[in-house]
Amino acid sequence: MQRINVAIDGPSAAGKSTISDLLAKKLGYVHLDTGAMYRCVALKALQNGIALDDESALTAMLEQTDIRLTPDGKVYLDGTDVSEAIRKDNVSMAASDVSKLKQVRIDLVRRQQQMATAKGFIMDGRDIGTVVLKDAEVKIFMTATAHARALRRFAQNQEKGICTSDLETIEQEIQKRDDQDTHRANSPLRKADDAVEIDTSDMTIDQVVDTLYRTVLQKTEQEVS
Ligand code: C5P
Repeated sequence: MQRINVAIDGPSAAGKSTISDLLAKKLGYVHLDTGAMYRCVALKALQNGIALDDESALTAMLEQTDIRLTPDGKVYLDGTDVSEAIRKDNVSMAASDVSKLKQVRIDLVRRQQQMATAKGFIMDGRDIGTVVLKDAEVKIFMTATAHARALRRFAQNQEKGICTSDLETIEQEIQKRDDQDTHRANSPLRKADDAVEIDTSDMTIDQVVDTLYRTVLQKTEQEVS
């Protein structure tokens, strides 16, 4: 079957990663979680006492930084498995801080574009449809209310045994990150003109995966004919 690329953007905790993972398995595609890369930069900066707004120090750090995403969803930072460490709440906020910086974005976007040189990728983030994979055949803008997203993130943290803030704090942090990601100067979160918006607030995971699966199949058939 013909393969295409899928760009999934949207605000924090809208379910992009979970959905992308399941969709990739169903289609036999590779999922690239670009948020994990910004999280790695944030984690390394925190570990090394580098200020989250020090663009030149972060750029120099990135020159010595290896980030690897494996097909089974693991994230390696300089050879260490940080898949869980990058999911902590303080790292989430720090990732949003470092992602404002132009040089950090240039570096990570270049890496992301090098990773997806062929078709058959599902990439999720904030700027995939607008910057990283502008020519993706399917672009999705996934949203949900801040409350629905906070409930999901809280449940997910508990399920994974990740040390978590209370629900109210998570919702406030999600709103703060939304605000920061939407209003930054460099590649702010926005829906690409040719993206399809899906509000997942009242949808189950299976319903969202199914909707996207059908969208991809439809597009694949169009590409062939
Ligand atoms: O998607 P996730 O919540 O893991 O992303 C963490 C942070 O990384 C986001 O809040 C956002 O600021 C940043 N990010 C970004 N561009 C991407 C992916 C993530 O700016 N493509």
